[in-house]
Amino acid sequence: MLIPLAEAQAHVLERVAPLEPRRTWSVAAVGCVLAETVTSPEDVPPFANTAMDGYAVRAADLAGASPDAPVELPVVAEVAAGHPAGRALTAGEAMRIFTGAPIPEGADAVVMVERTRRLDDGARVAIEAEVPVGEAVRAAGDDLRAGDTVFEPGEVIGAGHLGVLAGIGVGEVMVHPRVRVGVLSTGDELVDAGEPLAAGQIRDSNRATLLALVAQEGWHAVDLGLIRDDEAAITSAIKEGAASCDAVLTSGGVSMGDIDLVKVVLDRIGDMRWMQIAIRPAKPFAFGLVDGTPVFGLPGNPVSSMVSFELLARPALRRMAGHATTRRPEVPAVAAEAFPRRPDGKVHFVRVVAERDAAGDLHVRSAGRQGSHHLTAMARAHALLPLVDGDGVEAGDPVRVLLLADV
Ligand code: AMP
Ligand code: MG
Repeated sequence: MLIPLAEAQAHVLERVAPLEPRRTWSVAAVGCVLAETVTSPEDVPPFANTAMDGYAVRAADLAGASPDAPVELPVVAEVAAGHPAGRALTAGEAMRIFTGAPIPEGADAVVMVERTRRLDDGARVAIEAEVPVGEAVRAAGDDLRAGDTVFEPGEVIGAGHLGVLAGIGVGEVMVHPRVRVGVLSTGDELVDAGEPLAAGQIRDSNRATLLALVAQEGWHAVDLGLIRDDEAAITSAIKEGAASCDAVLTSGGVSMGDIDLVKVVLDRIGDMRWMQIAIRPAKPFAFGLVDGTPVFGLPGNPVSSMVSFELLARPALRRMAGHATTRRPEVPAVAAEAFPRRPDGKVHFVRVVAERDAAGDLHVRSAGRQGSHHLTAMARAHALLPLVDGDGVEAGDPVRVLLLADV
């Protein structure tokens, strides 16, 4: 019995949970999902400072100043960033000040250097404009006040977040850890790259692909190897993966009617559900727990294993990583050519390339041959185009696609 994709997706998502948050060095947390509210322990900026190069003054001293009638003041000190003035500014004085330097006590404004002229080798200054109180002053706590909420749980730590955390002196944050995902291939017909092909053998492509899909998310990809069709070998590989990883991906041996050892083993050591999903490719799929660790039994055909990862494993792994959104973006597009198909009770996921026109609209056409062993088209594809059961779509029809890459 075929089950709808949504049912299979819901089944998997219900059985995985976000990984227990860990206190993590913030620099190592880039790409991870925050699991706490971050509040600022201090004011940012910590002290009032100048936004401009110029002269710190009392605004009241400049009343009436203009290019024709400049106000002349003695320059009593120089204040640079990191070097506070040694004393307060009193009425009738100016201090030379540079961007980022603390506003001297007693000053309430900064006149930009462009409105001034140096006199007597810098001992005095002629100021040619009035300024309001507060001019060019960045007040203490202007960006953040001590106690302010800075970030909320669920936010993904990005480069800007790191800067903010560094800026408030927070060196560690509670985040959901990167998911550790073990990947293994099974099949007596498979050989690794670099080895000669004997009669009837093919190269193992799924392991490289799945490890890369995991690594691209910023997760830990753990290579559990290429395992022979041998019950003991499969058992120990899966057991080892379940013990050392947060999730395990297998490929091959989940087809209907197979007397496949992966199936035999998983049924013996795990609590599995074997599914036939109403999609093409990637119809066979298995999911369950082995010693409490989620195991995804992906189909063996290379395109199927990738599509199965995208539709079923990736959303679940994203949930484990703490993400609120688990799906790839689904966006409107236009079919640049006809995509005919026959009714067969399944949704077809066509591998398509997408191009934007001058107006920014996406136009999609086939990425190449669409067999479940035609990996080149999948590799090239920018998106998957779901075609619901029926006769397909005509050129020019509006469609929706699942984006796999930037276009
Ligand atoms: P299976 O589900 O094990 O019967 O595999 C289905 C098809 O996928 C067969 O043609 C296998 O040879 C092929 N296949 C299985 N695993 C891999 C793999 N890791 N790399 C490439 N092809 C594979
Ligand atoms: Mg096999």
